[in-house]
Amino acid sequence: MSKAMREDLLLFNSIVDELLFQEKENPVSTPIKAKELYEKIDLSLPENPTITSEFSKVLKDLVLKTPKTASNRFFNQLWGGRNSKAVLGDLLAVMLNTSMYTYKVSGPQTAVESEIIEKICKMIGYSNHSGGTFPTGGSMSNFMALIMARDKKDLEIPNSGVIKTMVAYTSFESHYSNAKNASFAGIGRDNLRYIPTNNKGEMIPEKLEECIKKDIQKGLVPFYVNATAGTTVLGAFDSVKELSNICKRYELWLHVDGAYQGAVVFSPKYKSLLEGIEHSDSFSFNAHKMLGTPLTCSLLLVNEIQNLFNSFNNEADYLYQTHSDNYNLGKTSFQCGRRNDALKFWTLWKAVGTKGLSSIVEHLFETSKIARKYVRNNPNYTLYNDGDSLSICFNYKEFEAKELCTKLYHAKKLLVGYGSFKGEEFVRLVTINAENKEMEILNFFKILEEFAEENKLSLQKRAMLKVS
Ligand SMILES: *Cc1c(COP(=O)(O)O)cnc(C)c1O
Repeated sequence: MSKAMREDLLLFNSIVDELLFQEKENPVSTPIKAKELYEKIDLSLPENPTITSEFSKVLKDLVLKTPKTASNRFFNQLWGGRNSKAVLGDLLAVMLNTSMYTYKVSGPQTAVESEIIEKICKMIGYSNHSGGTFPTGGSMSNFMALIMARDKKDLEIPNSGVIKTMVAYTSFESHYSNAKNASFAGIGRDNLRYIPTNNKGEMIPEKLEECIKKDIQKGLVPFYVNATAGTTVLGAFDSVKELSNICKRYELWLHVDGAYQGAVVFSPKYKSLLEGIEHSDSFSFNAHKMLGTPLTCSLLLVNEIQNLFNSFNNEADYLYQTHSDNYNLGKTSFQCGRRNDALKFWTLWKAVGTKGLSSIVEHLFETSKIARKYVRNNPNYTLYNDGDSLSICFNYKEFEAKELCTKLYHAKKLLVGYGSFKGEEFVRLVTINAENKEMEILNFFKILEEFAEENKLSLQKRAMLKVS
């Protein structure tokens, strides 16, 4: 058995060597037509064992034909790149294969998780009774926050179900998980209000208050506000400070969804974007986005840990057999068996220090500034968002964003996506790969421009909006 393990680790190393080489040589994998996938790679599962040499070959083939998210041409999503210290931690988590529910099976890994949570709670000024957990992602963090808010309004709800009509609030620009979560939580999608945003994409506090008042007049029960720290398209920050005042006034739970850009808490320079965060009830962010850990590494921090217990604790004699609740992290998590997502964050933090995390955050904003400056100073571009955001939303000349992005992908040039805001569609460049520097960012524009010029006859023009 241990011989097989050793051989497989050697194979792992050889495949990864090739992958790292190819990320440089061929930063964009050849896209495979979805219908032709089974013809291009041997994905079939056989009746008999595959001989070793064939197995290695097909595995390498599969790896190299997968989209390369750590290359310097990947700008498609709100994550990218690869932090080696975090990768190391995640590989070790796979080898250890603990589950985070009890101290008995996770031992010191329990403290790896708790140390990170405690440290961040302190940094953001949460109370002495604060705590948190590592959910499966930002969507799940939003869900858990919603559930805590619901139960806090009435501790009978976990038993009786939702009886009154409860109302939750978020902005038009917030993450789509809010709608699903309202459905899962028994609140109902129809009872999630979308508050309009200003021209920067930030929730308008006055509109929120108006809406809450109306709902109260109708006899409904407002209970939850989901603010966004870095909206998914524009990267806009809702004003936590102003929203927290409203939430205090009407006794609503305030959750700050910082999945995308919440990691600004690590930077003395940028943490003011979250001003007032200490007045929120919960806050989440994805370390796998700005901090570059492997997927998934998501944190949910709660100002009063009791709320996590109230909503997520459940007795289970067959599981909790030693130690007290504070050491059995399953008492405050959604799942039963839970992967050790904390270790990769811990190895990263341990290696680079809080200062190193701060440098990562600040470097990302530096590269976003380079990109934004380039767009702003170039008359061939239209810029759609300003301020501190890692999303740079733009159009190049008259070319239609959607088609440009899709063709860049098919031509193996770049992976970049498009988005829209208030009816305008644009390319969304995301400068979230901390390994990228000025050169890679400028290269992005060079590739895009060359491609657009070479293909200008076949690329569609976007419908120009009337400029008044
Ligand atoms: C990415 C993102 C999420 C979802 O996080 P997952 O980990 O992908 O579930 C939620 N909210 C915002 C603002 C995001 O950008």
